[in-house]
Amino acid sequence: MAVYTPEIECASRDYLHAVQSARLLKMVRTAYEKVPFYKRKFDEIGLQPGDIHSIDDIPKLPFTSKADLRDNYPFGLFAVPQGELVRIHASSGTTGKQTVVGYTAHDIDIWAEGAARALTAAGGTRNDIVHVSYGYGLFTGGLGAHGGAERIGATVVPASGGATRRQAYLLRDFGATALCCTPSYALHLWEAGQEVGIDFRDLPLRTGVFGAEPWTEEMRQDIERKMGINALNIYGLSEVMGPGVAMECLESKCGMHLWEDHFLPEIIDPVTGEQLPEGEVGELVITTLTKEGIPLIRYRTRDLTSLDYTPCRCGRTHVRLTRIRGRSDDMLI
Ligand code: ZN
Repeated sequence: MAVYTPEIECASRDYLHAVQSARLLKMVRTAYEKVPFYKRKFDEIGLQPGDIHSIDDIPKLPFTSKADLRDNYPFGLFAVPQGELVRIHASSGTTGKQTVVGYTAHDIDIWAEGAARALTAAGGTRNDIVHVSYGYGLFTGGLGAHGGAERIGATVVPASGGATRRQAYLLRDFGATALCCTPSYALHLWEAGQEVGIDFRDLPLRTGVFGAEPWTEEMRQDIERKMGINALNIYGLSEVMGPGVAMECLESKCGMHLWEDHFLPEIIDPVTGEQLPEGEVGELVITTLTKEGIPLIRYRTRDLTSLDYTPCRCGRTHVRLTRIRGRSDDMLI
């Protein structure tokens, strides 16, 4: 199977460590100099950017939370002037203010590459017709998958959400080979197909790239059986970028490779904040290494998972996130 950027995705762990460390140093200095919020946080604990020498120093750095994004609504954590931003996204807050993220042209480029790596890991090529049923708009799902599909040269059908029966017809009539949406929406599409006499197993559709909500291995098997496809898990969150931060490979279907040249992952105990050893389940914390618009230091995702560094049969060396087990705030409740 193809790898989109083999020189990076299959690089040695030593090489990744060096790339991550160099990028972290630069990012920490930028955050300190350009974002008053981070300067204040560093000063409070007496930390200087020069105290960070490699990714091994990551525990010295302060956490960033969703509340910090809300408190600095809308643009308080941005590290570049408005003129350098090319797009804004926001995640729907069920309570209170939205969390807002800004992207430079370089950020959009990196995002498209991350999503392109993800679609390639799912077996996608320029010969695919990719039907995107994630919502387009302020939510990152639609445009994120769209950017990755265009980057690999596939033909994109930007269906967005809603009008589910019509989408079932489009899937049949356009001959989509890949479907990007939430796993629950895939099942809605299947039901709509049943209602109008479309059997997905008879269509060219062969891959599903599903995310934006937690789902189970049983649900995967159910979808694969009903639709006659490979159903793969994609991970991302708006605060960090959008879909395409991590992705399962078709070869193993076991854990999502997280693009470590752009994102530095840790697992912490959600109560104490202490780093947990490899394999233990805890809260995923991500530090962005290349983001310009809104660099995030040790962002607490609140997603519960573990990290798997064992070699993968696909040849990618980037760490795998195991299936998301829930939310740390649920655990604390
Ligand atoms: Zn793999």
